[in-house]
Order: sequence, then structure tokens, then C-alpha cells
Amino acid sequence: MLDKYDYLVIGGGPGGTPVASALASAGKQVLLVEKGAGLGGTCLFEGCIPSKIFRESARRLRELQESGDFGLCMPTRDVHLDWSAIQERKQVILHLRSTGAIQRIRQNSSLDITLGSAMFLDNSHARITPNAEKPVDIEFKQAIIATGSKPFRPPIKGVEESCVVDSAQILEINHVPERLAIIGAGPIGVELGQVFHTFGSDVTLYEAGAHILAHADQELAERLQQQMTEEQIRIITDCHIKRICRTGSGVFVEYQTAAGQTAHHFADTVLLVTGRRPNTEGLGLENTAVKQTPHGIQVDEKLQTTEANIFALGDVVGQPMFAHWATAQGLALAKNLLGQPVPFPDADHNSAVIFSEPELAMAGLTEEQAQSRDIEYEVARYDYKRDARAQISNRAKGLLKILYESDSHRIIGIHVLVEGAGDLMGEAALAVTQGMTLEELACTIHPHPTLTESFSLAARSALQKR
Ligand SMILES: Cc1cc2nc3c(=O)[nH]c(=O)nc-3n(C[C@H](O)[C@H](O)[C@H](O)COP(=O)(O)OP(=O)(O)OC[C@H]3O[C@@H](n4cnc5c(N)ncnc54)[C@H](O)[C@@H]3O)c2cc1C
Repeated sequence: MLDKYDYLVIGGGPGGTPVASALASAGKQVLLVEKGAGLGGTCLFEGCIPSKIFRESARRLRELQESGDFGLCMPTRDVHLDWSAIQERKQVILHLRSTGAIQRIRQNSSLDITLGSAMFLDNSHARITPNAEKPVDIEFKQAIIATGSKPFRPPIKGVEESCVVDSAQILEINHVPERLAIIGAGPIGVELGQVFHTFGSDVTLYEAGAHILAHADQELAERLQQQMTEEQIRIITDCHIKRICRTGSGVFVEYQTAAGQTAHHFADTVLLVTGRRPNTEGLGLENTAVKQTPHGIQVDEKLQTTEANIFALGDVVGQPMFAHWATAQGLALAKNLLGQPVPFPDADHNSAVIFSEPELAMAGLTEEQAQSRDIEYEVARYDYKRDARAQISNRAKGLLKILYESDSHRIIGIHVLVEGAGDLMGEAALAVTQGMTLEELACTIHPHPTLTESFSLAARSALQKR
């Protein structure tokens, strides 16, 4: 470690790692400090990747269970779930990805990586405490905070019970709970609820709002909720959790219904997924002029904090909290710091996938957002019931919605509920970001038979109706 750096980057997740790497590749002296076991952040160790590894096993199990629909006679009742093998597979992939990231990034001679924690002493000095070593003070010209977020534990009576786990803990669990109560029906609650349901858990989802996935297109979220209910996942909306209490017959989750009555359910494990909070503890922000709000570190549109030479990005600055968003911010910030001005990511052009079954994916604005901004828009719709590819794969329960401005026909949002929706989002994001019109989408040649055809079919039928 040197005693002076051009840049100090705190946090080696999907936000911090690319920005550190890009700055070092341009010849800047960079110190990247990560307090976890390796590079990768929440995304690799506690988020995107481990949850998708579980989901992949669940998806394959579902396929086996549905094999009869495809003329395959399989003894699916004999399929045995080897939980420790699933956990081991997860560890192998995480290790591979983490060591791969370190090896790739270490090739850069102007980048130093320290596994340990960083704390600001003032706006140009920080104390670095490497794991199991003595602290070292360094000087920096500019700093980037990318310390991510952590699960929020709401003040519910009983949340401190050992049977109450957060999203990181459930990904480490050593068994499939027989009865799983999930508090919070956002993307993580929905995804893990379906995964554990497929693995055999009796799942109950509790949600304070009127429907699951508050930030997704309401119509699609309600359709998904209906499908989950039909699959025997219990979903209790408009409820308020009063307490969690361990008893002889399991954990008792007491809640107030929309009608004001008190009700309860028993579970073995309670998963709390009620949002995330910025990771700023121990950073020494009080020694700088960096200000925080309850949502995260305060930054302007160029990710500059209230301390001119300190920047922040990713989950630590609040919503949207996605790995690809943190990376996009990091790459844009690096370019701008290197004197190559590029636009910073625009939330109106972001895309996201909820890894439910079927997937619910989105790019751009929702109808609710368009309405709140008084945008005059129309919706091109396509029901996957009539889609060749969806029929072939027996996944025809789905809907596509393309939102476009009424006068210019510019596409402002694309929302899809169908198995494989996530893989449609590349095109959806391009259409929204590039401001494509419905006419341009309609005359783009899409290969047959693929789900992507739905985009041009939806656009063409909306134009024909005009
Ligand atoms: C269960 C789950 C599933 C998810 N699935 C998806 C998904 O499918 N797709 C998606 O896009 N997003 C998903 N996310 C969200 C995604 O993981 C985050 O948005 C993303 O990791 C944020 O990146 P970041 O770099 O801002 O922060 P993080 O990934 O949290 O990285 C921050 C790093 O900073 C380190 N750090 C903190 N404090 C200090 C300090 N003082 N000194 C040094 N280091 C420090 C932390 O150890 C951490 O490694 C999921 C999240 C969860 C919890």
C-alpha cells in the first residue's frame, strides 16, 4: 500500500470494482478497499448470484415435474432434493467468480486492493484497517464510496428471534424450512418465496401494500399474484405484522388484516425482506462534509456528495438498488472523472428483472409513473396465449405492454410477464434508451419462433388499430 493515492474506492461490489478498475486502467493510482471476504459485494455473496443459483435448481425441478406435459414419462415423484449439494454448488460458483474477479483486476499495476475496512479521517485522509493487520493512514485526492446496503429489520416485536432470518441468512440456511413465512412481497420476497415453494416449503407471503411488487406494473404484478395464489402460495396483502413469537408448535406470526382483525399463522422460519438501508456505519462520514438522508448518501446528478472531492454510487445512495445500475453509475463516473464527459445513467431508462416464475421484467416508465407526470400515452398489448414460442414451451400465461407517447409514438416503457422475460430486456432497454418509435419497432425483423417476435407483433397490431 502507498501512502498517497489519486483515488480511494471503498467497497468492492458491482459499483466500486468497475470504477476502480476503469480509473486504474487510465493510469491513476487507485486503492480499492473491501471489508468482505473478496470482491463481488452483496451481488455475489448475498444477492443476485446465490439467489439465482437456488432458483436454477428450483426451475429445473419444476421442469421435471412438468415433463409429462411434453410427452416425457419421468418418475418425478422419486426426484430427491439434495440440499447440501445445492449449497455446495453455490459455494463453488461464488468462489470461482470471486477469485476470477481478483485475478483479472490485479493485473492492473496501478490498482492496489486491500481486504479490510476504510474510514475517513477528513476529506483527504483515511484510515485503512487491513484484515488482521495494523491500521495505516493514507492520503487521497478523490474518494468514491460504494459501500452498498444491508437488510432493514423493522421494529416488529420478536424480530430478534433466531428463527427470523434476513435475505443473506436464508441463502446460507442448512435445510428447506417446512413452513416459511416471508414478510415483504418485493422482488426478493417473491423470488425466494417461489423458489422455496418449489423446494417443498409451505410459503406465506405478508405484504403491507395492496398487491405484491409495489414498483412493478400493477396489472402484471396482480396477474403474477393470481398465478402464485393458484400455485398454493398464500399471499396476505394489506396486512400489518404485530409480532413474531416462538411457541412449542413453531413460530407464531400475528398480524392485523385490512379489516382490522387480528389473525395468525405458524411457521418454522420467518424471512424478513422489508427493504434495505445504506451501509455507512463506521465510514467516518462525520469527519467530512458528506451528508446523508434516510435513503442514503446525498449526491447530485453527477454522483458528487456534499464534499466536493468525494463521490458515492450504487445502493449506498438509495434506489434503484440493482447491480447493473451500480455498475452503470461506476463506469459513467470513471469516464467523467477522467475528463471524458458521458451522460450519467437515467432512472427513466433503467431496466430490471424480477426473477419470479414467470419472470416479470421492465424497462423505462410504468403506467403509474407516466400518469403521475401527465404524459399522454397509449399501450400496445400482446397476450402470449397466441405466441408460437410460448405455446411450444407451455408458458403461454403472460402479457407484454409497450407504453408509447400518443403523439410521437416514442416508446417510454416496456413491461413483460412471461417465462424468459428477462432475456427480452436487452432489446426493451435499447428501444427505451434510444427513444425508438412504435413504427421502428414494428418494422424490425424479429426471428421466428422466438419470444422477441412479440415486440413487433404488439407494435404492428397497435398501429393497425389506429
Ligand atoms: C437476495 C438479493 C437478490 C438480489 N438480486 C438481484 C438481481 O437479480 N439483480 C440485480 O441487479 N440486483 C440484485 N440485488 C441487488 C444487488 O445485489 C445490489 O443492488 C448490488 O449489489 C449493489 O451494488 P453496490 O456495489 O452498490 O453494493 P454492494 O454489492 O453491497 O457492495 C458494497 C461492498 O462494500 C463493502 N463495504 C461496506 N462498508 C465498507 C467499509 N467501511 N470498508 C470497506 N468495504 C466496505 C461491502 O463489504 C460490500 O462488499 C439483489 C440483492 C439481494 C439482497
